[in-house]
Amino acid sequence: MAEHVRVAVIGSGFGGLGAAVRLRREGVTDFVVLERADAIGGTWRDNTYPGCACDVPSHLYSFSFAPNPEWPRNFSGQPHIRAYLERVTDTYGLRPHLRLNSEVRSARWDAERMRWELDTASGAYTADVVVSATGPLSDPRLPEIPGLDAFPGPVFHSARWDHGVDLRGKRVAVVGTGASAIQIVPAIQPEVSRLTLFQRTPAWVLPRADRRITGVERWLHGKVPATRAARRGMLWGIRELQVGAFTKRPDRLGFVEAVAKAHLRRAVKDPELRARLTPDYRIGCKRILLSNDYYPALTRANVDVVASGLAEVRGSGLVAADGTRVEADALVFGTGFRVTDMPIARRITGADGVTLAETWKDGMAALRGTTAAGFPNLLFIIGPNTGLGNSSMILMIESQLNYLADFLRQLDVLGGRTALVARPSAVNAWNRGIQRRMERTVWNTGGCDSWYLDSEGRNTTAWPGTTAEFRRVTRRVDLQEYQMLREPRRPRTQAPAGLGEGAVAR
Ligand SMILES: Cc1cc2nc3c(=O)[nH]c(=O)nc-3n(C[C@H](O)[C@H](O)[C@H](O)COP(=O)(O)OP(=O)(O)OC[C@H]3O[C@@H](n4cnc5c(N)ncnc54)[C@H](O)[C@@H]3O)c2cc1C
Repeated sequence: MAEHVRVAVIGSGFGGLGAAVRLRREGVTDFVVLERADAIGGTWRDNTYPGCACDVPSHLYSFSFAPNPEWPRNFSGQPHIRAYLERVTDTYGLRPHLRLNSEVRSARWDAERMRWELDTASGAYTADVVVSATGPLSDPRLPEIPGLDAFPGPVFHSARWDHGVDLRGKRVAVVGTGASAIQIVPAIQPEVSRLTLFQRTPAWVLPRADRRITGVERWLHGKVPATRAARRGMLWGIRELQVGAFTKRPDRLGFVEAVAKAHLRRAVKDPELRARLTPDYRIGCKRILLSNDYYPALTRANVDVVASGLAEVRGSGLVAADGTRVEADALVFGTGFRVTDMPIARRITGADGVTLAETWKDGMAALRGTTAAGFPNLLFIIGPNTGLGNSSMILMIESQLNYLADFLRQLDVLGGRTALVARPSAVNAWNRGIQRRMERTVWNTGGCDSWYLDSEGRNTTAWPGTTAEFRRVTRRVDLQEYQMLREPRRPRTQAPAGLGEGAVAR
């Protein structure tokens, strides 16, 4: 027998836990958080690679409703962020709602009963509303490389670090130059015998304003909350001011490129290596990376930068697209995640019996990044076009939580067994507006191929505005954008005597 809940949240990262807190604050206690893993934490449970840390300062990369005066550094490490999420889970009494080891295998809208039916690894659930918070960067992407299966040594992805493997004294190859790879390289370089970095595209790297947050600052943040708020406000404001250059005037990013080039020049004296590390696309087109130790690590005697992607594996030999061949004992992929083809989409079937993946075959699209046509009472946390290039995703998550809260309020006001489904015209109009704005952004015009773009070159991931604008457009649910569905009326013959119109058996 399936357990019925008002809301089923899928995922227990910042998005799912944030939704759970918000539900409780809205007085909704009849909900579960379905998590496929055996612990909460999402990104910050899965990414345990050496050097793993956030790249948006911790005082902004945390919930506004759960400030943490104790952040140890500007950019705190994974153990601290994971511990923070565990604390949030305890503080807000979320444990009783957690259903761990409960991978959602399918979610199907039952139009007859007006509810979702979920099949999970730990049993069946039905829910009035589903919140999908499965994360934009949660399913690792491993490139298909001929011969990889026969590589004799350990092979793993940055988000599934194998701590059983001792890399000390080994010849290690790292594939990729994204946000994870540039944290891994300096962390492992001192202990491996040889490190080869396969770089398909060099990244733009800016200095990282990281430092320990002093005891005095922490004391002050604990005793005088206004100081904490001011710090967060400043971090937020600086990033909001940068948005226009990314979304409307990429030509203004030349100055930032100059800063990045100076950073590279300072660290890398060898002009040939510097040339290999210099990007040929506009800064910001791919995610800008922050590091003070990545470039210095690449200049060490035990490091080689192969300016070409890994094309083939022949035994323990790794062959780059340009023909370079190196031997390695272990292979680490920092090749990112499945971002534009959200894996959960294949498992969610809507009102017409069509999966979300089919609906999105020409590109992901959702009204206000949150609801999709054909999928009643389903909301995404970090849905299509909600990603940020320069600021904290928690800001976007919290905006979507406002929308979720209003969505539930609207359902309550409408009463009965009701569902709201985004009108296709509203989704299309929203998406057309987004795509029009995308044309001017650095992501679409900067001359790079990035994970913001899908296989057709459409940008279905990034938000082309400020976080303040997103907060504004997700404050309220506009019922004009929705179609209301009501449960088909059943014959009234069974209504118990004495009950009036409103008490018709449902
Ligand atoms: C290394 C790294 C560093 C990052 N640093 C920053 C940063 O500094 N600033 C920033 O803004 N963003 C950063 N991000 C992006 C980060 O992913 C988001 O900020 C945020 O953590 C996403 O939270 P989420 O809850 O949406 O997703 P996740 O944290 O990915 O959580 C999703 C959860 O859903 C679960 N799940 C997935 N599918 C199913 C299923 N079918 N059934 C049940 N459960 C399922 C997963 O197991 C996971 O626990 C970083 C990402 C990575 C990988």
